[in-house]
Amino acid sequence: MTATADIVSVLVPLAIEGTYSYRVPAGLALAPGDIVEVPVGPRSYVACVWDDPAEPIATSRLKSVAAKFDCPPLSENMRRFVDWVANWTLAPKGMVLRMVLRAPAALEPPAPQVGVRATGEAPERLTDARRRVLDLMDGGLAWTKRGLAEAAGVSPGVVDGLVAHGALELVELPPKPLFPPLDPDHAPPDLSDGQGEAAGHLRDKIAADAFSVTLVDGVTGSGKTEVYFEAIAEALRRRKQVLVLLPEIALTHEFLERFDRRFGARPAEWHSDQTPAMRERIWRGVISGEVRAVVGARSALFLPFRDLGLIVIDEEHDIAYKQEDRVAYNARDMAVVRGHLAGFPVVLSSATPSIESRNNADRGRYERIVLAERFNSGTVPRIEAIDLRREAPERGRFLAPRLVSEIERTLGAGEQALLFLNRRGYAPLTLCRACGHRFGCPNCSAWLVDHRFRGRLVCHHCGHEEPKPLACPECGAEDSLVACGPGVERVAEEVKARFPDARTLVLSSDLPGGVRRMRMELESVAAGEVDIIVGTQLVAKGHNFPELTLVGVVDADLGLANGDPRAAERTFQLLAQVTGRAGRAGQVGIGYVQTHAPEHPVIQALVAGDRERFYEYEIEARRDAGLPPFGRLASIIVSAEDRNAALAYARGLARVAPVVDKVAVLGPAEAPLAIVRGKSRFRLIVQAALGVDLQAYLRRWLALAPPPRGGLRVAVDVDPQSFL
Ligand code: ADP
Ligand code: ZN
Repeated sequence: MTATADIVSVLVPLAIEGTYSYRVPAGLALAPGDIVEVPVGPRSYVACVWDDPAEPIATSRLKSVAAKFDCPPLSENMRRFVDWVANWTLAPKGMVLRMVLRAPAALEPPAPQVGVRATGEAPERLTDARRRVLDLMDGGLAWTKRGLAEAAGVSPGVVDGLVAHGALELVELPPKPLFPPLDPDHAPPDLSDGQGEAAGHLRDKIAADAFSVTLVDGVTGSGKTEVYFEAIAEALRRRKQVLVLLPEIALTHEFLERFDRRFGARPAEWHSDQTPAMRERIWRGVISGEVRAVVGARSALFLPFRDLGLIVIDEEHDIAYKQEDRVAYNARDMAVVRGHLAGFPVVLSSATPSIESRNNADRGRYERIVLAERFNSGTVPRIEAIDLRREAPERGRFLAPRLVSEIERTLGAGEQALLFLNRRGYAPLTLCRACGHRFGCPNCSAWLVDHRFRGRLVCHHCGHEEPKPLACPECGAEDSLVACGPGVERVAEEVKARFPDARTLVLSSDLPGGVRRMRMELESVAAGEVDIIVGTQLVAKGHNFPELTLVGVVDADLGLANGDPRAAERTFQLLAQVTGRAGRAGQVGIGYVQTHAPEHPVIQALVAGDRERFYEYEIEARRDAGLPPFGRLASIIVSAEDRNAALAYARGLARVAPVVDKVAVLGPAEAPLAIVRGKSRFRLIVQAALGVDLQAYLRRWLALAPPPRGGLRVAVDVDPQSFL
């Protein structure tokens, strides 16, 4: 045997590029994918044996693998996925592995449950209570002690007594199945002709058992969910595991119930609100194959499925799929990569597909299925613009007279109205009338947002909070503070003043009570217990509100002009989604869009109900500008507490940028959010033509700069979604 045969390379979940080599202790056989415990410095880590050849280091200096976990290995395609994501995002491989090994305690098999079973021996003394217990044990089945005591109506001590007397014996119980089986044929729907055709198409994709991407592009309420459920059913029939990603935890509940009705049981639920114990069970169930379907947030993409056969990305255009910190990845794009590596179909679903996905479909890289009609001949809402330059609200108010009278009419008809404003809190800015002082965050270059319900001023970037003072801290004037501009709380105040008898509800992600309260409130809206909903983008996504017929967009210009190349797309998607909430149960819906720029192509396309016009306009604009998907972008943010240090480093970076054809480096410029959490931020943008290997360019470039030191941070984001 050669010396290296006893050495393995191990990827540790730390911010390091490559693998480390370890000695394999005698008696242990290790193969790539095995999950092991290894020492690094004074600590030990859960890590994974990798495929790279081990470094031939003098064996005497090597540390040994401490243990191998009793757990199935990470599959080959999962390991290639980790490599791929690291290569694409420029994140250290170890940090990507860390997203996979999220639930380390799950690596130990669950502790066996102990139960009791009758031995057939009679106890010395047969009391009434004892008899009741033994009668229950007649079938020879094993029981948990607690379950038995409860069923027999005795104290646990009685059961213990019977064990002590030899009438019962302790046995190991098989683990309780946490994830009941899913039945693909539990309750299939009657699909419309168009839906049936779409479902058939997806079933064929599953049957082909090969990589493909299908974009299900259908108006809200057309039955996209029903249709992709048929793909899930087919995958389950073929004994494949299924993953569905949703952009928002608040949506999960409705989805779970729907899934339950269709498949006779719930899927496993993976998101940050899940208990650690449950996350462990799911992780283990996913790698062992016991869990057949998972619905979750973007991080579920890194679960180590044993035999994944389908990923569905619902609301594929949603920005929530992009993670910005640590490993900057887009779960939608990486899901396609995972499908490609493992050879299974991926389904993207949206009423307002991203420009990227639409372009991929136009070019034949993805297939596109169009569901043009609402189910049950529901009509798509009509949309009208309200030109705020001509129909201005009264002073200090935010709803134009026409919108107010339309709300009145809606309430009169016993229907619901939704007012949408994508801004949490009461007012985005507070200033002193006497001296002009504005309340800014001490840590960020951002104004503090007045949250009047809580009586506090809050920074939406770092979370800094302070009580709202009675007097101006600058000039001491009392009662001089004024709120500038609206947030949802302020719109709600106006609604309550105008419609005192209506039942008004504010829905915003930061209200106390968390997901639980939000779910209850969404249910009360669905049940018709609310007349007017005032909400942020939370209400734009996927909920079915049957009584809702009017949607008012308070400020459609928010987000249209902020220097973000995707601003038009985002605005269109958000407005189309939110106005699409109107009139889903057969009634005719109408959307009013308040704007200062009714001539803007986004507003024009919305009002004309002409999605195609928007896509044509926006795709053309991106092509002209060489922006994604017709060019490639990366952003580099250099940040440090010391502004000069950050700027100097960013300038130095720009100076050493390799000059290459078809690559332009812009900046450094102060980021729009110039200071966050006390750190000054400078941004460089790399714009490249499509054929350029952007990652290779970035690697070559970053290697030329001195390593960032002393609190300096360099964050690379390939294909950035946010430009703040
Ligand atoms: P989308 O995902 O496109 O917004 P959904 O799948 O949520 O559409 O369908 C909208 C509503 O119509 C849901 O309440 C759904 O249950 C109902 N629906 C759609 N298709 C059918 C069908 N074939 N049979 C019964 N109900 C359907
Ligand atoms: Zn702040």
